[in-house]
Amino acid sequence: MLLIDCPWCGPRDESEFTCGGEAHIRRPPEPDACSDTEWADYLFMRSNPKGRHREQWVHTHGCRRWFNVERDTATYVIHSVYRMDEAPPGGEA
Ligand SMILES: [Zn+2]
Repeated sequence: MLLIDCPWCGPRDESEFTCGGEAHIRRPPEPDACSDTEWADYLFMRSNPKGRHREQWVHTHGCRRWFNVERDTATYVIHSVYRMDEAPPGGEA
C-alpha cells in the first residue's frame, strides 16, 4: 500500500486516491490539423516505463484535487509529489 502525500491534505493511504494515468499529456494546439494517427496517439498512446514515471492522481476521498506524482513503477517508491501548477522537480515534463 502506498502512502501518498497530498499537497493539500498531507500523507494519506493510497485507497483515498485514484490514478489518472500519465501526466503532462498535452492536447495538440490545432486538433483539426492532426492526422488520424496523430490524434489517436494523443488520445490513446501512453508510455509504460519500468522505472520513474510521472502520473496524475486525484484525492478522490479527500480534497478532490488533482496533482502529479513521480514514482518508480518497479519499486513503488514515490520520488516527488507536486501540484498541477508547479514544474516537475528535477526538470522538464
Ligand atoms: Zn487532498
